[in-house]
Amino acid sequence: MTAYPHLLAPLDLGHVILPNRVLMGSMHTGLEETRDWNRVAEFYAERARGGVGLMVTGGMAPNLEGGVFPGAAGLFSNTDIANHRVVTDRVHDAGGRIAMQVLHAGRYAYGPNCVAPSAIKSPISPFPPTELDEAGIEKQIADIVTSAARAREAGYDGVEIMGSEGYFLNQFLVTHTNKRTDRWGGSYENRMRLPLDVVRRVRGAVGDDFILIYRLSMIDLVPGGSTWNEVVTLARAVEAAGASILNTGIGWHEARVPTIATSVPRRAFTWVTKKLMGEVAIPVITSNRINTPEVAEAVLAEGCADMVSMARPFLADAEFVRKAVEGRAGAIAPCIACNQACLDHTFAGKVSSCLVNPRACHETELVYSSAKDPKSVAVVGAGPAGLSAALVAAERGHEVTLFDADERIGGQLNMARMIPGKEEFHGLVEWYAREVAASGIDLKLRTRADAEMLEGFDAVVVATGVVPRDPQIEGQDGANVASYVDILTGRVTAGERVAIIGAGGIGFDVAEYLVENHSPTEDLPSWLAEWGVTDPEAARGGLAPDGPQPSAPARNVTLLQRKPGRPGKGLGKTTGWIHRASLAMKQVEMVGGVNYERIDSDGLHVTFGPDRENLRLIPADTVVLCAGQEPRRDLAKALSTRDVAVHVIGGADVAAELDAKRAIDQGARLAASL
Ligand code: FAD
Ligand code: NAP
Ligand code: SF4
Repeated sequence: MTAYPHLLAPLDLGHVILPNRVLMGSMHTGLEETRDWNRVAEFYAERARGGVGLMVTGGMAPNLEGGVFPGAAGLFSNTDIANHRVVTDRVHDAGGRIAMQVLHAGRYAYGPNCVAPSAIKSPISPFPPTELDEAGIEKQIADIVTSAARAREAGYDGVEIMGSEGYFLNQFLVTHTNKRTDRWGGSYENRMRLPLDVVRRVRGAVGDDFILIYRLSMIDLVPGGSTWNEVVTLARAVEAAGASILNTGIGWHEARVPTIATSVPRRAFTWVTKKLMGEVAIPVITSNRINTPEVAEAVLAEGCADMVSMARPFLADAEFVRKAVEGRAGAIAPCIACNQACLDHTFAGKVSSCLVNPRACHETELVYSSAKDPKSVAVVGAGPAGLSAALVAAERGHEVTLFDADERIGGQLNMARMIPGKEEFHGLVEWYAREVAASGIDLKLRTRADAEMLEGFDAVVVATGVVPRDPQIEGQDGANVASYVDILTGRVTAGERVAIIGAGGIGFDVAEYLVENHSPTEDLPSWLAEWGVTDPEAARGGLAPDGPQPSAPARNVTLLQRKPGRPGKGLGKTTGWIHRASLAMKQVEMVGGVNYERIDSDGLHVTFGPDRENLRLIPADTVVLCAGQEPRRDLAKALSTRDVAVHVIGGADVAAELDAKRAIDQGARLAASL
């Protein structure tokens, strides 16, 4: 008897039966653009072997003007079709099923040739689109249809028509982006015409025995978005036009509401999909911030959907479904929704990976093969770098001893998990603890390793992390000064008024910790209110008429940095705006371009500019130091004169711009080579 009877139940689509209710949602990984088709095929095949019911590829451009960026992949030629065959054959050989997403970006296309229903530039692109004429519209529809037909020729089991997130089809649906007065604009019937023509003609081109998923924006989260009545009308019409499945889209890319970041509560939007249940007869898929079999099962058991889409969880663990089937859900590497190695890479033009699983999208290159010559390996430091190195080394057959001076594993992740909105880090540390326990690693906690202790090992991996940087500010030894470590480990409780020195990732996190009384991420109604989200039946696009309603800040916080300009520029590409917006909602004052003059019992005294002008007192009961970090090298130095192979990784290696992504990746790559 499985713990996930709804999730693991087959889904009969008529011409095909999916083995379970799990869809791997579309992700742009950048793999197709590498043109290394063996690599693309291996990425999908590994997930097919892991038992997922159906996968959807990253968005494929139907034509050059519709590509998300110039050079975006698509099925433009017979060579492209043959290349995609490599992928579909490999997936089918692995027992899987795969649909290709057709994505026309419309005004979101990052290029000068972008097209749209109306010539209205999007706030997230510098390129104003060209308004399409009648012939131009026909070309776009025909290209989408051709792309779907080619997908069938390339061996795909279906297509997903991307109709949400504010892309081309979505742009026709709302008056916000469609100001046309011809048959493609004006009434809702006219605005629906293009998406419906697309679905009808795609179905005609691909035949009945082919999966056709339509991704429908159920809550636009932009001003002037669709009403709920329009969503239902569209869903029924899309069904009548020939779709076999409806997938949920949440929010346009330009929405100022987070939809997938780690601070979004788990399954925050499944209530929206649930509203559509019963309105159509075809299966409905829900999505966004579902990352464990337990959550997915609950979503289905509560009747929110017929199927669950998870995307990033399949980067974190290709075997998500197999482990759930085998009753080993605790062994699933959790996606913590950080976006650091997936979406942030996409926006930086890099191939995606995963913070938790550096092999994601690197399956052919990062291989954990059995060690030819098993060694005794000491790993010092059970932060993310050391944990990753220890686990990969043990998996390869080395005999591993893992030391940590602390009473628990996790290193700085134990501080990250204290931040409101970063609760997923709890799951990551717990997963590491289970993996270490299951691996045969000899774990020695409360043990500060020194050079003598490490004698006799064949190799030593030094993963001792960092120490906080000493900013050497006059008065920093005062009773009202604390480091971020003091605050986040609970050694010091901050007063009412706080000045934070340093506005890097940790400064922002500490500010978040100090302004929140409780985490909205753990309380869906208060999170929805904070971001101004309401029932789309009550307001267009699901945006509350009164806007965001944040709760009062728990403290009065000022966040400072010496660099001129707005703090927070170095934060993650896809999440930095969320941190800045949530602190602004809590009235955190952000001050750049300061010199720290001194700290006394009144607070922090700063001046501005090279001439140290405009002396200002930031009144503070507590001043928190978040001034960056330096490598902890004492052990590495002591070992340098010993006759043993020493490898230094993570913060102990380079502290600048260190994060868990780099620490884990470096640990895994080192251990793969030992
Ligand atoms: P550490 O995590 O510092 O681990 C080092 C370990 O070595 C410690 O457990 C220590 O006890 C042990 N040790 C040291 N010397 C010895 C010795 N001689 N013997 C035995 N044990 C020893 N990163 C992200 O990617 N995303 C985030 O969202 C994020 N948020 C953060 C939030 C906060 C509040 C903080 C503080 C950090 C955050 N980070 C985040 C940064 C991330 O946690 C670090 O980059 C990462 O932990 C560094 O890993 P590490 O293994 O090199 O070192
Ligand atoms: P950081 O990002 O390097 O920021 C350090 C801050 O301290 C900067 O604002 C810097 O700004 C200031 N500073 C540096 N030297 C100083 C000095 N001598 N005196 C006073 N101020 C000084 O480091 P961090 O905030 O400690 O974070 C450590 C690492 O953890 C980062 O690399 C980060 O990537 C990672 N992290 C990531 C996340 C995430 O969400 N991805 C969250 C937390 C932490 P000025 O020099 O302008 O003053
Ligand atoms: Fe999830 Fe972060 Fe991995 Fe992306 S990088 S898949 S968000 S854990």
